[in-house]
Amino acid sequence: MQIVKESGPITGEHIAEQLNLTRATLRPDLAILTMAGFLDARPRVGYFYTGKSGTQLLTENLQKIYVKEYQSIPVVVNENVSVYDAICTMFLEDVGTLFVVDKGSHLVGVLSRKDLLRASIGKQELTTIPVHIIMTRMPNITMCEREDLLIDVAKKLIEKQIDALPVVKKTDHGFEVIGRITKTNITRAFVALGEE
Ligand code: ADP
Repeated sequence: MQIVKESGPITGEHIAEQLNLTRATLRPDLAILTMAGFLDARPRVGYFYTGKSGTQLLTENLQKIYVKEYQSIPVVVNENVSVYDAICTMFLEDVGTLFVVDKGSHLVGVLSRKDLLRASIGKQELTTIPVHIIMTRMPNITMCEREDLLIDVAKKLIEKQIDALPVVKKTDHGFEVIGRITKTNITRAFVALGEE
């Protein structure tokens, strides 16, 4: 890096000479520095220093992560299923948020763990209350699309104090649920970024 900073643009051959190494020995190191964005290379010109700091590169990489790369499979229930059945689905599918759809498979609501817990506190008969009574409903659902940046979705999760967002596709009749982004997906992206 020091050599390129001082003498760039400089060919791989010349860098190797200064280090008393062969071009072949140096090749993997140059490849890593180029891939990481610290150096750039032009054919017949050589390597030059991009001047970008680690933080700058991290920000740039963050702006390249899209929802579609990290989304998981959504778990949906019909608006007429009972609160009891929704609780069973949440356990069986091992998720923290259920998306509620109408008979045309369009998004109408969201059910969180605490929504179901709240409904269970009273002495109501859970097998007879349909979930559409207790869900958070449209148009108050925060959603995202496959092509959205993951960082923007992470901001929405923080801002709205929620754990998950449905990934939707707009149709003529509403929104079709095609995926799910949760705090776990964001954590996974964060770890991948740190290990890159
Ligand atoms: P919990 O209620 O278990 O803490 P959340 O923080 O995700 O889980 O949910 C808080 C409230 O926000 C719940 O009433 C839930 O119905 C609602 N909610 C969850 N996700 C969304 C969303 N994507 N859009 C709108 N409301 C949501």
